[in-house]
Parts: sequence; C-alpha cells; structure tokens
Amino acid sequence: MRIKNKLTLGICILFAMILMLGTLAISSVYELDRNSRNIYDANNNSLNYARSMLVALEKIDSDPAALDVFIENFRLQEKNITETDELQATRILKEHLEEYQKNLDRKSIGKMRADLYRIMELNMISISHKNQMAEAAAENSLLWISVLFVFCILVSIGLLAYFPKYIVKPIKELIKGIQEVADQNYKKRLPTGLGVEFGGVAASFNKMAERLEEFHDSSISDILSGKKYIEAIVNSITEPIIGLNEEMQIVFVNEEALNLLHLKKGDLLYRSATEVALKNDLLRRLVKELVSPNEKQEPLKIYADNKESYFQAKYIPIRIVEAGENEQKNIGNIILLNNITEFKERDSAKTTLISTISHELKTPISAILMSLKLLEDNRVGELNDEQKQLSESIKENSNRLLSITGELLNMTQVETGRLQLMPKITKPIELIEYAIKANKVQADKFGCQIEVEYPEKISKLFVDSEKIAWVITNLLSNAIRYTPQNGRIIIGAKQEGDIVEIYVQDFGKGIDPRYHQSIFDRYFRVPGTKVQGSGLGLSISKDFVEAHNGTLTVDSELGKGSRFTLRFKV
Ligand code: ADP
Repeated sequence: MRIKNKLTLGICILFAMILMLGTLAISSVYELDRNSRNIYDANNNSLNYARSMLVALEKIDSDPAALDVFIENFRLQEKNITETDELQATRILKEHLEEYQKNLDRKSIGKMRADLYRIMELNMISISHKNQMAEAAAENSLLWISVLFVFCILVSIGLLAYFPKYIVKPIKELIKGIQEVADQNYKKRLPTGLGVEFGGVAASFNKMAERLEEFHDSSISDILSGKKYIEAIVNSITEPIIGLNEEMQIVFVNEEALNLLHLKKGDLLYRSATEVALKNDLLRRLVKELVSPNEKQEPLKIYADNKESYFQAKYIPIRIVEAGENEQKNIGNIILLNNITEFKERDSAKTTLISTISHELKTPISAILMSLKLLEDNRVGELNDEQKQLSESIKENSNRLLSITGELLNMTQVETGRLQLMPKITKPIELIEYAIKANKVQADKFGCQIEVEYPEKISKLFVDSEKIAWVITNLLSNAIRYTPQNGRIIIGAKQEGDIVEIYVQDFGKGIDPRYHQSIFDRYFRVPGTKVQGSGLGLSISKDFVEAHNGTLTVDSELGKGSRFTLRFKV
C-alpha cells in the first residue's frame, strides 16, 4: 500500500474513533438529561400538585378558596398522569372529591388525603425506579466510553509507533546508500521491497549506482591506458627525465634517467626524492638545485656510457588549473637533463683553438709594435706626414689586436678553469691609477675629463691586482668609448662597513634596462652599438671579480649614463 493511503487510513481510523467516542458521550449525556427532565415533568409535577392539594385540604373547612385551589391542582394532575396505577388513583380521588362536594363531610376529606398519599407514593416509586434506571444507563455509558477510550489510546499508540518507523526506515536506508556511494562503494544496492514510493526511489538509486559503477570501471581503464600512453611517451624521450609531485615523490622516470642514476625503477617510483637523494649523489645535486635554485646553473659532469658526459638540468614546473578554480596551481616538477656533452666537447675545442691562436698571434703583434717603434725612431729615417699617419694607424690597430688577443686569452683561462689568482695586499688607489694611466692616450684623444673620488681612509684589498686592474681598465675604457667627446667620467672608491666599492661612472648614452643582465654574457653587444668591440670585456670582468668572491653590477639609465661597481669584502 502507498504511504499516502496508509497515512489516510490511519487518520481515518483515528477520526472514526474520535467520532464514535464523541457520539457515545453526547448520546449518553443526552439520555441522562432526558431521563432527569422526564422525572421532573412526569413525577415531580404530580408530587407538587398532590402536595398543594394536601395543603388546600387542610384549610378546606375554614377557607372557601381552598376548594378552588384543590380543584385547580386536581385538573393539572389529571393532565399529568404518567404511571399505570396513577390513572386509577386519580379517578378514585375524583370520585371522593365529588363525594365531598356533595356531602361536605370530613370522611371524604380523609379519603381524599389517602388518595393523595397514594398518588404521591406511586410517583415516588416511579422516581426511585427511574433513578435506578438512569444510574444503570450512566454506568453502562461510562463503561462503553472507557472501553472506547482505551481502544482509541491503544490504536493511537500503535499508529504512533508504526508510522514514523515505517516512513523513516527507507529514508535511513537511502541516506546510508548515498553515503556509501559518496565513499566510492559503487557496488551498493538498496532493497526494492520498501513500499511503492521508496521502492521506486530504491530502483532509481540502484540504477544510478550501476551507471556510476560502469563509469568508474570505464574511467579507471581509461586512466590506466592514459597512464600507459604517458609512460610510453616518457620512455621514448631520449633525454633523462624525472617527474616529481608536490610532495617531492618521484612519479615517473625514464630508462635514460635510471641508467644515469644507476638505480632501478622500483628504487625510485613513488619514493621521496629527498630520501633517495641521501644515498645518490646525482639525485642529491638535482634536488638541491630544485629546492634552492642557483642563478648560475653549472652543467653537471657525470660519468656515463664509459665516458665523462655533461648534462644541463632543466626544471619545469607542472601547472594545472583545477576544476572550479581560476588560478593555476603547481602540482610538481619535471627534471629534464639535456645531454650537452657534444656541445661541451666542441666548446672546449673552440676554446683550445682560440687559446692557441691568441697565443700564437701575440708574438707577431708584439714584433709589429716593436718594428713600428723602430720605424718611428728618427735615427732610422725621418717619416713624412703621410707615413706617420699610416704608422699611427698600424699602431692603433695592432694595439687593438693585442687587447683582443689578451681578452681572448683571459676568456680561455676562465673557460678551461685554468684561472690562477695571485692575490696580494693592494690599495684601491693603485688599481684606479693604473687604469687611468692605461687609458690616458684614449682619454686624451676623446677629450674626456676623468675625475677621481677617493676617501682619506679606506681599507686595503687582498686581490690579484693584475686581474682587478685589468677589470677597472676595461670599465674605464668602456666609459670613454661609450661617452660622447669631451665627456665627464668619475672613477673612485668608497667603503661601507667591511665592503669596499670601486666604481666607474660615465654620463654617456646609458644602457637599456632590458640588457642589464645580457651585457655580462660572452660576445653580447647592445644591439645598434657602433663603437667597435668584441663583447667579451664585461663577461671576463665579471668572471675575474667573482673569482675573488666579489660582485660586479651595473646601474644605468638610457640617456643619463652608467655606473659600474665592483664590491669586495675587506
Ligand atoms: P665591448 O665593449 O667590447 O663591446 P663589453 O663586454 O665591454 O664589450 O661590453 C658589452 C656591451 O655593453 C657593449 O657592446 C656596449 O654596448 C655595452 N656597454 C658597456 N659599457 C658601456 C657603457 N659604459 N655605456 C654604454 N654601454 C656600454
């Protein structure tokens, strides 16, 4: 049966019982009321008439009006005969009344009194009898009302106990089922025999759970095939690749990476990279670089494939936008190792070639400069103006060639790691003066005005003076070359705490902020630079300064000039 019908039936039963109880109570009260009225009308009135006739009888001899009162009450009594024997008694009273009217004797009065007592007795008996009947009827009604009341209470308790349970039970089952499906138990089914309405709900629920189960199974197989597909892609990458999740667990790794790390897949997959790194030197370096990235990413030298190989690590963050979110979220990192051994080998061949050529060029250039010096000597012979100009040009170009070969040799020293520092205690002013002297001819030629700012008290430095003097010379040379004619240049030093700064400031064309980093790269020249140069000076300078644990930085604004600063710890 439907819940709706059951509820209606329950309410109808309750309603019928209340109706029955009410009807019974009302009819009983009505019956009692009717009986008591009956007694009053039928018997009590007769008693009153009889009583009035008795009173009148007492005065009938002395009071002529008493007979009228008597007769009036007698007439009323005649109309109010209710008992079987009352009619007979009233008739006898009538006879005796007529007798009295005829004889006016005391004997008749006595007879009438006896008649009146008889009528009163009959009514009294009737009242008592009717009273007993009314009591019995009241008791009977009370019994029926009580029985019906107890029955109503029992039925109500029954309904109260049964209905909530009947309605709540399937709801509870449904909630439990939904909870289990939410916990991914897609095998959960509900019993269908839970009534018409809940049977339908249960059937729909079971259908949904079935579909979810199918979807779950199919999505798992899709995920598995997708995973295999991604694994195949990862394995087909010829470069070593390692994938880490947010918790730094290794989630994928290809064969190349395993060979490089000398580990098996089982040793790595789903294990914490930091934990494995404790026992693996290469992984430790990679994780360290990932956790605290170094600006200058040095290539990794690894012994692989029976030879020394070089790898450049690339750290690629894995970012996704989760469903319902707007912003990207980092869910891990990919470490990709680029095998740069071939480039490294070619680079080192190039460095060796540059080094050899530069070295070999130095001797003939020096010989040219020496020959020029002899040529300029008047003892060899006077040169005419044209020859003088030519020899000046040869000298200038030879000097430039010498400076370039010098720069190239310095660069090869840095690149091959053969840079050897010979530090000694040096006053910063010595370095500044050396640079000014070295640039004097050029400064005069450009009409540059060099100002020196130097404090009275400044700490000495412990540096390879030759290398640092070369750096400052190079910075001053740049300042002269990249400043318009007759420009102003400030070179100086200052100390702040235990840091000594040496700076070269010009008021020339300045450098676009976009190139502030790149100007320290090998062979980089700001696009559009017309002044001749190799693009090596600043990069070698930076290497030299950093080899002393110092820094070389630039502050520059287009059109306002540049300030290059070297900083050393005292
Ligand atoms: P080079 O001067 O031989 O080209 P550098 O490494 O010394 O090489 O300088 C790299 C580039 O930086 C230069 O080509 C030039 O464009 C820019 N540069 C360096 N110093 C200055 C300066 N003082 N003012 C403007 N630009 C400069």
